[in-house]
Formats: sequence, C-alpha cells, structure tokens
Amino acid sequence: MAKCCLSCSMPLDSPEAQGPSKHYCKYCTDAKGNLKSREEVKAGIAMWLSSWQEGITEKQSQERAEHFMQAMPAWAED
Ligand SMILES: [Zn+2]
Repeated sequence: MAKCCLSCSMPLDSPEAQGPSKHYCKYCTDAKGNLKSREEVKAGIAMWLSSWQEGITEKQSQERAEHFMQAMPAWAED
C-alpha cells in the first residue's frame, strides 16, 4: 500500500511529493521536515482545491479545506 501524507493525503511515492519527513509530503513541512501550522496547510489545500474545481469561491475552498483536514490523521480532533 502506498504511503500517503498524514496531513493532506498526497501519495508519498511520487518524487515531487517527497520531502525530509517520512510521514508528510514536502508541501506540508518546512525544510527540516517539521509539519507546518494548521493555517499554512489549510491555505495550501484551499489553493489546491481551487486549482481544479471550477467556479469555486475563496470562501468555499476554505470551507472544503477545513472539512478535508478533519479527515486527516494529522489534524483530526478527538
Ligand atoms: Zn501533505
């Protein structure tokens, strides 16, 4: 089974996703492999969503990013 980023679910077997961390993709971590802040990751996911969902508003992409993150192990609230 392919490993996926615990923060954004990006498959970690693709070279462009690999960063210094074993558990997170390079987009979710800083240069040392530390997980970025919730707000930073959320902004990245919102940008990714609006890049392929046509006609999505800024507010909708933020809401969907928030929803998406609630399903991710790195951000799930218990
Ligand atoms: Zn990620």
